[in-house]
Formats: sequence, structure tokens, C-alpha cells
Amino acid sequence: MDKQSVLKEYFGYDSFRPGQEALIDAILAGRDVMAVMPTGAGKSLCYQIPAILLDGLTVVISPLISLMKDQVSSLREAGVGAAYLNSSLEGAEYGEVLRGLALRTYRILYIAPERLLREDLLEQIGDTPIPLVVVDEAHCVSQWGHDFRPSYRRIAEFIRGLPSRPCVAACTATATAKVKEDIQSLLALEDPLSPVTSFDRQNLYFGIEKPKRKSEALLAFIEKHPQQSGIVYCSTRKNVEEVWELLGSYRLAVTRYHAGLDDSERHENQDDFIYDRKTIMVATNAFGMGINKSNVSFVIHYNMPKNIESYYQEVGRAGRDGEPAECILFYSGQDVRINTYLINNQNDDEDERDEEQVAHNLELLRQMTFYATGSDCLRSRLLAYFGEQSPNYCGNCSNCKTVFESIDGTLEAQKIISCVYRLKERGRSFGKMMIIDILRGSKTNKITSQGLDTLSTYGIMADATTHRIRSIMDYLISQGYLRVGTGDYPVVELTPRFREITVEKKTLTIMLPKVDPQKDSGEGSVDRFLEGRQRPGSFVVTKTFEKTKSAGTPVDTSPVDEILLTKLKDLRRELAQAGKVPAYIVFSDASLRDMCRKQPATKAAFLEVSGVGEVKMEKYGDAFTKLIGEYRGKEE
Ligand code: ADP
Ligand code: MG
Repeated sequence: MDKQSVLKEYFGYDSFRPGQEALIDAILAGRDVMAVMPTGAGKSLCYQIPAILLDGLTVVISPLISLMKDQVSSLREAGVGAAYLNSSLEGAEYGEVLRGLALRTYRILYIAPERLLREDLLEQIGDTPIPLVVVDEAHCVSQWGHDFRPSYRRIAEFIRGLPSRPCVAACTATATAKVKEDIQSLLALEDPLSPVTSFDRQNLYFGIEKPKRKSEALLAFIEKHPQQSGIVYCSTRKNVEEVWELLGSYRLAVTRYHAGLDDSERHENQDDFIYDRKTIMVATNAFGMGINKSNVSFVIHYNMPKNIESYYQEVGRAGRDGEPAECILFYSGQDVRINTYLINNQNDDEDERDEEQVAHNLELLRQMTFYATGSDCLRSRLLAYFGEQSPNYCGNCSNCKTVFESIDGTLEAQKIISCVYRLKERGRSFGKMMIIDILRGSKTNKITSQGLDTLSTYGIMADATTHRIRSIMDYLISQGYLRVGTGDYPVVELTPRFREITVEKKTLTIMLPKVDPQKDSGEGSVDRFLEGRQRPGSFVVTKTFEKTKSAGTPVDTSPVDEILLTKLKDLRRELAQAGKVPAYIVFSDASLRDMCRKQPATKAAFLEVSGVGEVKMEKYGDAFTKLIGEYRGKEE
């Protein structure tokens, strides 16, 4: 068997997502890897597929109980022998897993880091070969990450203690240099392959709102998204309680999660959310790591998080199945002040305050604040944080939607180019500002003294703002109709392509900023907080909307038969209840939508649905094709 057939037969997918193949190939060749990909990009398959292909047992170290349970259920549904060991297991269950290990019934064992060095485990594993050790959420090894776990520091010791050194795969969504260095050195990775994949999640919409009353804004949002599953993140337990009560008072299906609740309640609430019994989860950042629920349609930040890293991880929990999802941040200056206070006082209990750490965290907070208060494309800002270049316009964030507008720039482009042309006829060339002044008909001395007011293009754009003319000119330069000379003085020149505009009269649709970005400003105290740092530069749209490469396979978002979809969801719920697993583990929403489109009548056709592998076909094929058949019969 090869990786492609494992992808299809076990997981039901036709193609790999960006980065997955390179990582799988490296692991199969025995090379260490560091998979740095955004949440929801599909890191698990990168080690699960090799685990299925390699001889022996793959050990996956994972920080969260919920994550292990979820992954193991998914794997078992797909027909892969898997188990987990953590403190949630009763004595008998624990014993059963140990026996299973001795009998070599599993391909993959998930384990909490605290349990790695326990003797009984190593004894049971005995001489089963361990070709691969995976460290999931590997940023937990670094104190510069946001979820440092001391027990992660013992992983290297565990690996050293194995009879032969396995291949080591570290997975994380954290991409900062410091954290990556820590992962490499503290886990002792040897020359790891770390392919560069885009951090863009195209199906996520990013929005910033600055509501007067957050509670009203939240209710309004939820009202517009009935029946959808979503998470509302708050910064404190107290806020969680308040928001939870508020939503409850409107009889919404809401639950809550924070460290102040006892274990059993946290557990229960989390399950209510995962099993779709409650659609809205109000939580602190204690909730969510390892939650694999694929049909989360929105993530709202009621308070601004401390850094972009955590923010991106938290919003990453939306739209894992590739369906469109919304990520909205409710910003207020108050959040900046509270976070600053928290960061400054976080080490109070301990005797020593780590100045370097505090300064580092304040800097991260500043970057987060920039994100929330700037007026340029939110997606490019997030991607820039992860070191990625992208067009300054994505068309799918609140800034692009409100700050940019699409204009017909055909005529204005002709005027600008004619002006440069007429100047050239007179043997003259000028920089951008002078050309703008001529077009606007300025009466400055510089213009009149050189007789430029006699040009036929003088004053032909008297009604346009400087900002607008400059933006269109920048666009023409970026598209190669004009260029900026390389001489001592940056003059604007024609390129051979200018005729497309003036002679061929090509139509130009240009995205332009609606407002003057210079006027944008935050609140007074926040401005002071940001002082000394460069303000986000005024943006120049250098491209018409162009899709950036994405971390996800393109998703078909064409409309589907909603009646059939509801029926399929009902069936999924029944099957999930019977199997005691969350609905999304039976099939994701994306799979159900694909079923609606393909309407398979036979088991063979059922196998063509995205997310349907051999085992799921055998297990669920009859039920779903029968339902679809009945539905089609009624239709005709
Ligand atoms: P991560 O660990 O990177 O946050 P996961 O491994 O949990 O992400 O994967 C997120 C979702 O993407 C899962 O529902 C998974 O089944 C799906 N997925 C992964 N790889 C593919 C693929 N090649 N094609 C389609 N879906 C995929
Ligand atoms: Mg993961």
C-alpha cells in the first residue's frame, strides 16, 4: 500500500493538502520533521498515514485528554487500531490498553506526557518496534509559546531511552522563530524537514467590530446565525459567566467552560458542545485545544486575546471542514488595558519577575492591538505576522469589505496616462506628486513657471482627491502600464503596455480604499500604548483581487438541496448516538454536502464522496444510499 491509497481507502480523500505529502514522504524515509501548519490545516494525517504504513507502534504525545479521545474515535471509525493512555481511564480500561499493547493490536498510541516514563508502559511495549514518535502541539515544550507544559521537557529523555532512535515528528500551529528554535533543540530534532506552507485559511472571514455594547452586538450576531455552532471566547471567568447567563436568558442552547468549574462539569459541557446538544460554547482560552469539532461556524472573541498567536489558534477552530466560517473580534480599548495589567502582574505570586518575558509579552500584545485597530486587510496582517507576503486585499475581511470599494478606473487611468504622454512629448518627466498636481490643476509656482498649465491634460482631474489619483497611479505602476524610473529622481514613465489603456481602451476594475487611512486612529490611551512603534502604513492596493494560495484544498461551496441535507443530518445524528461518538466523527458537514451533490445510489458511488473510506462505506453506505434513494424516489 502507498500513501495515496491509504488517504483514499482509510480517510476517503482524493488529494493531499499543501505540505502533507512532503511531510509524509520525509517520515517514511526516516527523517525528522517539524510540521508548522495553521490549526485545521490537517497535521494529523501527516503522521497517521505513515503510522499505518510503518511496521510497529507509533507513539503520539498529546497534551489534552479530549484531543486523544477524539482522534482515537476518528481513527477507529476509519478502521485503524488506536488507543490512548491518560488519567481519564479507569483501572480496568487502562489494563485493557496495556494488554492490547502487549498483543500489538494498535498502530497508534496516544499518550499524555506525564505517563511516558512509567515503567509499566515500557514493559508492555516490550520489544514492539517504535518507528515514529509524534509530539503534537509541540509548542508546549517552549516557555515562549502560550501553553508551556513542564512535562513536555521530559519527552527527549523518553526518546533517548528507546532501544533505537525513532523518527521524531513535531507538530504545531505556532510559527514564531523562538518557539521553533525551542522545539528543535528541546526535542533534539535532527535536521528536521519543515516545509513552508501558507498560513492562510481562505474559508475564514475575519472581522473586527468596535461595538458600544458588546452584549447587544453578540445577540445580534447570533440572531443572524441561527442553528449554527460557534464559540464565544472571553478573557476571564467572570466574563464567561456573564455572557453565558445573558445568552441563556434568551433561551439559546448555550454552555460554558473555564478553569473555575469542576472537572465533571467541564467534561459534560464540552461533550454537550461536541455532540451538538448545545450549539454555543462560551469559554476562556482554557477551552479548545484539541477540540476537533469540524462544524464550528463562528468564533467570536468577546475580548481581545493577548497575542496574535493565540488568536489565530483560537479562530482556527472554526471551519475545519473547509466550509465558510466567521471569526469576529469585539475590540475595546479596555481589553488592551486589562491585558497590559495582567501581563505586568502575572508573576506576582513568584518571587522573581521575569523582565524579559514581560517585555516580550507586551510586544506581542502591541502587535495584537495593531491588528485590531488598523485599517488594512486583516488577512494580510495576520499572514504578515507569520512571515508571509500576501496581496493587501483579500476581499474576505471586514476591512476589505468596508474600507475598499471596487471602482471602474478606465477613464481615470486614461487621463493619468495621457498626462505622462503629453509631458513626454515636451521632453519632460516628473515624479508622482507633480503629475497629480498637474492633473488636479494646481496653480503652484512650480507649475505655472514651467508653463505646465498649458498642457491639454492640465486640470482634467480637478474633482478627484490626491489620494485617489495616487492610488490609481500606483495600480497602473503595479500592473506594468507605467513604471518608476531608476534614475536619481523617481520619475513616472510609460511602458510599452500603456497603449492597452489609451488605444485599446481596456476596462479596468480597481479596488480602492474608501477612506483616507491617515485619518484612522485608535483611542487616546491605546495610541499612547502603541507609541514609538510604526503605525501601520497607508495601504496601497497593488493588485486587483487575486486569490492567495491556501492551506486548504478548494472546497465546493455551491448550494445544495437543504431538505436532503437536513435528512442526512438526522440520519447522522441517529448513527452517532448509536455508536456513542460525536456526529462529526461519523461524517463532517462537508461530507454530507458532497453527498447532497453526488446523491450516490450505490456503495461504489458512495465511495466517491469526500471523507468516505472503505470502512465507513461498509459501515454507513447502506443507510445513506437507502435514504438518498427514497428521497429521489419521492422527488420524481
Ligand atoms: P490540525 O491538526 O492541523 O489542526 P487536523 O489534522 O485536525 O488539523 O485536520 C483538520 C481537518 O481537515 C480534519 O477534519 C481532517 O479530516 C481534514 N483533512 C485533513 N487532510 C485532508 C485532506 N487531504 N483532504 C480533505 N480533508 C482533510
Ligand atoms: Mg492537530
